[in-house]
This record gives sequence, C-alpha cells and structure tokens, in this order.
Amino acid sequence: MNLTKRDQKHIWHPLTQHKLHPEAKPIVRAKGALLYDEEGKDYVDAISSWYTAMYGHCNDFIIERAHKQMQQLDQIIFSGFTHEPAVELSEKLMAILPANQQKLMFNDNGSTATEIGIKMALQYHHNKGQNRKTLLAFEEGFHGDTLGAMSVSGLSVYNGPFEEFFIDVKRIALPDGENIPQILKAIEGFHEESPLAGFIYEPLVQGAAGMKMYQARHLEPILEKCKELGIITIADEVMTGFGKTGSFFASDHISTKPDVMCLSKALTAGLVPMGITTCTQKIYDAFYDDDLGKGLFHAHTYSANPIACATAIAGIELLQSDEIQKNIKAITGWHQKFARELEGHPKVRVTRQQGIIFALELNLEMERYGNLRYQIYEFCMAEGVYLRPLGATIYILAPYVTTREQMDRVYAAIRKVLDNF
Ligand SMILES: *Cc1c(COP(=O)(O)O)cnc(C)c1O
Repeated sequence: MNLTKRDQKHIWHPLTQHKLHPEAKPIVRAKGALLYDEEGKDYVDAISSWYTAMYGHCNDFIIERAHKQMQQLDQIIFSGFTHEPAVELSEKLMAILPANQQKLMFNDNGSTATEIGIKMALQYHHNKGQNRKTLLAFEEGFHGDTLGAMSVSGLSVYNGPFEEFFIDVKRIALPDGENIPQILKAIEGFHEESPLAGFIYEPLVQGAAGMKMYQARHLEPILEKCKELGIITIADEVMTGFGKTGSFFASDHISTKPDVMCLSKALTAGLVPMGITTCTQKIYDAFYDDDLGKGLFHAHTYSANPIACATAIAGIELLQSDEIQKNIKAITGWHQKFARELEGHPKVRVTRQQGIIFALELNLEMERYGNLRYQIYEFCMAEGVYLRPLGATIYILAPYVTTREQMDRVYAAIRKVLDNF
C-alpha cells in the first residue's frame, strides 16, 4: 500500500476536511529551501513550512548542536531543576529582545505561548485585587487553537463551534490612520463597560488573516492608550519573530514596547517544537509573593527541553550571523523589485511587503478554502513551488537561505498563476 493510502487509515490531519481533501502528499526529505517527494521532484518551500524553517531544512549546524545535546542531557523536569541550554538560551534571547523584557517561561508551541500570555494578563490583575475579566484583540487576529488563544482569535472558520465557550473578548479594527480616534474611543467604551485585562496583537503583520499589514505609527497610539488604562499589552510574535520583518522582532519597529511577548515557530528553526512567553519585571513582580497562590501555576511536561533549547541557541547564532543578515537584505530587495514589476497588473489588487514577507492579493473572488484556492495550490506544486494561498492572498515567506534561482522559480510560478487564472 502506498503512503497516502496508509495515512488515510488512521490519521486526522490539521486544518483538513477529509471528505473534501482525502489525499495527503508524501514528502520524503528536505534540504535548505527544498522539499522532495517520492519521485525525487523538488519544491521550493516558499512558506518555510509555516514560518519555521527559516535557516533552511536539515541545517547541518543546527542538527550538529541538537545531536550533541541529545548525547549529553535529553529531557529533565524543569520544575526544581535547571540546565545550561535553558540558561544560555535565556541570556541569548534577552540580548536580542526589547530591553524591557526580563523574565521568560518556556512552553511547547505558539498556542501555549499566547495562552500563557493571556493567563499572565488575567492573573496579574487578579493578584492585584482588580476585577478585570475582558480581553481586547484585533478583529481578524490569529493567536492559536487552544481555547484561550482561540477566544482572542477572530477567524470564524476555525472558531464557529466554540464561540459560546470563549473568554469575554472585545474586538477593534486594524488601524489605518483615519480610524484611530474611533478605535481609541471604542477602547475607552469597552473598558468602562467591563475593565480590560489585556490587549493581544500581532505586531505589523497578521499572518493567518492573509499577511495583512499595518503601520507601526498607527499601532503606537493604541498601545499608549492601553498603557494609560493599565491594560497589559501582549505582542504575539509567534509568526513575526526572528528576523522576518527586517529586524529581530516586529516590536523593534514600534517605540511602545509590549509587557508580554509570545515566541515560537522560527524560535527552534523548524527542527523541534517549543514556545516561550517573555514579560517585564513588573508582570513578574505581581506573581512574586509569600503566598503560593499568587504564583503562575502553569507547566508543560517538556518545558525547556534541552534539545529544543540547544536548537534555539543555534538558530539565534545563525540569525545574528553576517551571512543570514545579508540574505535577509537581499531577499527584501528581490521582493521589492518583484512588487514593482506587478504594479498595475490587472490581476493584482494590491501587493504588501514587510521585510522578507511578501503578499499579493489576486483580483479574483476566492473563498478561504474554496476550489480556486486549491487549484492555484496544485498549479504551483506542478511548477515545483510550495505556496499556500490564504483566500485570494498569495504570500511568500521563504527561508533566509533561499537562492536567487530558487526565488526566481517562485516568482515565475506566480507570474504563471497571473497568466492562467
Ligand atoms: C501559528 C501561530 C500561532 C499558533 O502557533 P501553534 O504553534 O500553531 O500553536 C499563534 N500566533 C500566531 C501569530 C501564529 O502565526
């Protein structure tokens, strides 16, 4: 029996309606920016396997570090114990995070990273004896699939059946410059109605919403309003972190720094899962008490797994290397040139770019998981390019090690989509 058939017997895939899409494609190996199927055909992984493998798949440097760590210390309970990789990672991360971030809690993935951020915000006020039970979020944000994270996410295609179980959340529109006074008024109104505990946001780029982008200077007054009202600000940098927006973190572009930051995806360079939630001294201090009950009693079994920590350290070293920094600048330039080429194209509604994240909206009516979207996906795969359109938005978020030739293959596939659809 072939792999696809064996897969169908027991496996339930993420984000998949199996009745409509019964077949999963086997991938047998990956190297750098390329994925290989059973026939040896290669595909440029133009979305870095959901924004994780930024330094390329099966990166020798990262594998060597992980391998070395595996032989030394594989896994240890992180409640009561500590180890070198965790401590070294905390030091390396703090050196590149905004200076107000002082403490971090290890966890497992992007959803747990935001879940902890939400719990920090809620318990912060609880510990201070304040009654604040409502959260604030952008309309189309995406923060993960666990219940708390899902509550603050705005995409109903994922959330529909669960809405009545959600934490109380108020939503605001993305700031576009003109609507900022209304947004600030809305925040004040919500806060009067039911005091707001925290505001969670994807800084500058909303990933799952279709690489929607907005400007740092438009976010600034919203964050300032939150600070003024004592609302804990939570930057979900699970997607934007580690170089993608042209700086280490998207929050580096914004002068008002968050109280809490959520990291995952590229954190461990696409090798193993891990999440981290960081916070300021002020947040930490609200939990630091003689009273046991004021602590944050949250744990994941694999918290600070030494192999994941060693992988993350290797990833940060690569991110800081001249070579990767040079690549980020080069890819940013290639995308700018491609955007200019597409200017005025009748099939292109708009292009967007922030750092190495490039998106174009097709001038077509497309449902998020509609047939046309699947046709475009299949078409690109036939061209040797793995793209995953979000509705009518095609985006490129390719590894930093993508060669010019490989990126040209991605651009060529997109040109062909524009000619054929
Ligand atoms: C992917 C993502 C998450 C969820 O991360 P998982 O590891 O899939 O749980 C949360 N927030 C943002 C912005 C993401 O892109």
